[in-house]
Amino acid sequence: MISQNFINFIYLISAILFMMGLKKLSSPATARLGNKLSMAGMALAILATLMAPGLSFKLIALGIIIGTIIGGWAAIKVEMTSMPEMVALFNGCGGAASALVALSELQLRGNEFGPAMVEHIGTFAMITLLLSVIIGGLTFTGSVIAYAKLQGIVSGQPITYPGQQVVNGLILIGTAVLSYMVFNDPTSHLLFYGICLLSLILGVLSVIPIGGADMPVVISLLNSYSGLAVSMTGFALGNNALIIVGSLVGASGLFLTKIMCDAMNRSLSNVLFGAFGTGGGSDDGGVVAEGGGAEGSVKGYEVEDVVMVLENASSLIIVPGYGMAAAQAQHAVRELGDYLDEEGVEVRYAIHPVAGRMPGHMNVLLAEADVSYDQLFSMEDINDDFSGTDVVLVIGANDVVNPAAKTNPGSPIYGMPVLNVEEAQTVVVLKRSMKPGFAGIENELFLKDNTMMLFGDAKSSVQALVAHLKG
Ligand code: NDP
Repeated sequence: MISQNFINFIYLISAILFMMGLKKLSSPATARLGNKLSMAGMALAILATLMAPGLSFKLIALGIIIGTIIGGWAAIKVEMTSMPEMVALFNGCGGAASALVALSELQLRGNEFGPAMVEHIGTFAMITLLLSVIIGGLTFTGSVIAYAKLQGIVSGQPITYPGQQVVNGLILIGTAVLSYMVFNDPTSHLLFYGICLLSLILGVLSVIPIGGADMPVVISLLNSYSGLAVSMTGFALGNNALIIVGSLVGASGLFLTKIMCDAMNRSLSNVLFGAFGTGGGSDDGGVVAEGGGAEGSVKGYEVEDVVMVLENASSLIIVPGYGMAAAQAQHAVRELGDYLDEEGVEVRYAIHPVAGRMPGHMNVLLAEADVSYDQLFSMEDINDDFSGTDVVLVIGANDVVNPAAKTNPGSPIYGMPVLNVEEAQTVVVLKRSMKPGFAGIENELFLKDNTMMLFGDAKSSVQALVAHLKG
C-alpha cells in the first residue's frame, strides 16, 4: 500500500518541475526545455494520482484512451495560426473538468451526510466546491464562445444590447443566492444544477460583448480562471497537486493578461466591457477609422526596387506581424534573412510583444523556421537602434509600427508602445493592400517619404525578393 506521504512527495517534485518549466518558458532559447520539464512534471503528477487507493482503473483507462486520441489528433492537426482556438478549448475542458469533479463531490457528500453535510465537510470546503462549480462552468462556456468567435462560427463583432451589464450582474447575484441556499439544503440536486446552469449562461453572456480580435486576452484570462477552479477543487479534495498547479495556472494566466493589456495600452475593463475592435483585423473587412489627418502619398514599388535597396544595405531589421503568420511566410523570411546575413548585412528581428494574435506568436513562428535566437530582439532592446539602421522590412505588421500611437492623442492606440521603424533610413512595408490591421485605423507610416510599399501576399513577396537577390 503506497502512503499518502509518498504521493505528496511526488506531487512536490512535479510542482518543482512545473515551476522550473515556467521559468524556462520566459526565453525562446530555453522554452523547449521548459515544455519538456512541465511535461515530465505532469506525467509524475498523473502517476502519483493513479497510486491513490480505491480507483476504478477500467474507467480511467477509457478516459485516458479517449483523451489521448482526441488531444493527440487535435495537437497534430492544428495550424500554428489556430493555436489560440486550441488553447481556448483546453481551458474550457479544464474548467468543465473542475466543475464536474466539484459537482460530483457535492452530490456524494450530500448523499453521505444528508442535511448535516456542511458540519461534516466544513464551511471552507463547501465554499471552495461551489466556487469550483461556478468558475469552472463559466470558464467552459466562455472558452467555447471564444473558440467559436475565433473560428468564425459566432460573429467576431461585439454583441451588445442595452442593460447588458445589469443582466450579467443579476445572474451573478442569482448564482450567489442559490449558493447561499445550498448551505441550508445541501442535498438538493436542483440547487446544484441551478448554480451550474447560471454559471454556464454567465460564461456565454460575458464573452459575447467582446470583439473577436480581443479573444486572445479573454482566453488568457479564462486560462487563469480555469486554474482558479482547479485549485478550488484541490482545496475541497485535499489534493496538493491540484492546489499547486491550479495556483500556478491562475497566477501566470493573470500576469499574462496584464502583460497583454499593458502592451496594448488598454485596461482589462476596456477589453472586457469596451466592445473594442472588429471581427479580427483586415481579413474580416475592418473599416478605416479616423487616422488623424495623415499627410503624404502611398508609394508602391516593385520587387526589383526593394532588391536594390537591400543590396545597398549594411544593416537590416525585420519586423514581423500578423500578416507574416497569415501568409505563413516565416520560412521564406528566414531564407531572406540568412541570405543577407551571409552577404555581410547585419540582420536582426524586432519582436513587438503583441505582434500577431497571441502572446509569443512571432517567436513561435520564427523558432519554427529556425531563426537563430540571438537575432531576435524584444522591443525594449531594439527600439533605440532603428535610427541607426539602413533598412527596416515590415512584414505584415501594421498597428505595432503605427506612429499614431506616439503622436495622435485621438487615436484608439495612443499610448501603446510601438516600434520606432520610421526612424530608419528606409522602411519597406510588405502587405496586400491599404487595409488596416486589428485596430481598424489608418497608418501614416505608409505615407511617409522614406517608406516604400511592396503590395502582395507576404510569402510571395519575400520569395520573389529571395529569388531576385540570388539571381
Ligand atoms: P495588424 O493586425 O495590425 O496588421 C496585420 C497586417 O497584416 C494587416 O494590415 C494586413 O494588411 C496584413 N496582412 C494580412 N494578411 C497578409 C498576407 N497574407 N500578406 C501580407 N500582409 C498581410 O498586426 P500587428 O501584428 O501589427 O498587430 C497586432 C494587433 O493585434 C495589435 O493591434 C494588437 O493589439 C492586437 N492583438 C494582439 C494580440 C497578441 O497577443 N499578439 C492579442 C489581441 C490583440 P492587408 O490586409 O493589406 O494585407
